[in-house]
Amino acid sequence: MSKKKQGLNTICAHVGEVKDEQFKGAVSPMYLSSSYEFLDVEVKRYPRYFNTPNQEFLAKKIAALEHTEAAMIFGSGMAAISTMFLAFLKQGDHIVVQNTLYGGTVNFIKEEFPKYGIEYTFTNGYKVEDFEAALQENTKLIHIETPSNPLLTVTDIKAIAKLGKSKGIFTSIDNTFASPVNQKPMDLGIDMVMHSATKYFGGHSDICAGAVASSEEHMLRIWNVGKNLGGSLSDMTVWMLERSMKTLGLRVKAQTKNAMKMAKWLDKHPKVSKVYYPGLKSHPEYQLAKSQMSGFGAMMSFELSSDLDALQFQKELKLIKSSMSLAGVESTMLSPYLTSHALLTQEERDSVGISNQLIRFSVGIEETKDLKRDIKQAIAALK
Ligand code: PLP
Repeated sequence: MSKKKQGLNTICAHVGEVKDEQFKGAVSPMYLSSSYEFLDVEVKRYPRYFNTPNQEFLAKKIAALEHTEAAMIFGSGMAAISTMFLAFLKQGDHIVVQNTLYGGTVNFIKEEFPKYGIEYTFTNGYKVEDFEAALQENTKLIHIETPSNPLLTVTDIKAIAKLGKSKGIFTSIDNTFASPVNQKPMDLGIDMVMHSATKYFGGHSDICAGAVASSEEHMLRIWNVGKNLGGSLSDMTVWMLERSMKTLGLRVKAQTKNAMKMAKWLDKHPKVSKVYYPGLKSHPEYQLAKSQMSGFGAMMSFELSSDLDALQFQKELKLIKSSMSLAGVESTMLSPYLTSHALLTQEERDSVGISNQLIRFSVGIEETKDLKRDIKQAIAALK
């Protein structure tokens, strides 16, 4: 069957399997060699060249999911994003980056780019006009994150891709929050898509990994920098990631369904002053999200009313874990001001709307009645 016709869960379950030619086992064998034959071979394999059998084959699954020609797997989301940036930017170049962005990406840009003479501008907002206003003669890359972490703003992917194409500027997206289950940015014209595979790709809170997917041409450029930076993933973890990704479609769809139920419920809760979820009709970009996403995702944030202590609330939760990271099958909550955005100044957090009452909620696969019961009892314990 042609790969184009294969559905989501078929791709998840089958594309990128390493065939066990020797024993005909049902799952991919794990190739742990760090040393491969170099004589009379087509490909000289080495883990840091991102081309061991497990790396090469899992990349095919990611490429199939993202509708791209090629992909690469990295040791973390930050290894993926930093390698991608450095492949497309050199001294004297300029990047336009969305202002609402994962805190680690913001830190990377601010702390590392000045050392390499790379200029950057954070937009004033997340609309296409904000990106256009920030462009310079030397702009080489526009980077967006949608839905964004942690306020779930939605940027018009098609409009950004069009802007980039009209000016000869490459475009990239952090697709971590949506995952390819809910959003396929390459179909909307974006040049490169990256993931913290630590999140939905892994899905069980036990893997740290990253991925970039794009055309063969762009991936070659990224590979050339990647082999110098050395951010490859161990094959044992690549194998685990392949196993996790077999259920990516099932997990993310179940989590997305739960998130919609939880967002509607929280939105009506008297002790919740605001819910940020693109699937709510009250979300300012609901229509845009509907047009560019096939599902609204399983991430949301909410503001607890000001009379309640947001940290104490998280301590009172019995089922939902207060923990860093996101996207596992188990629901988690955190305070962005103490975690993902802790390294930003209070002023920077205020400017993008990250208050101390804000709680980011990663919805898992549990029964929503149990999640609601847990939130109710935690709020009751505060009174
Ligand atoms: N992008 C987003 C949206 C994230 O949430 C994160 C991590 O939280 C990253 C990138 C970085 O990924 P990693 O922690 O795997 O390096």
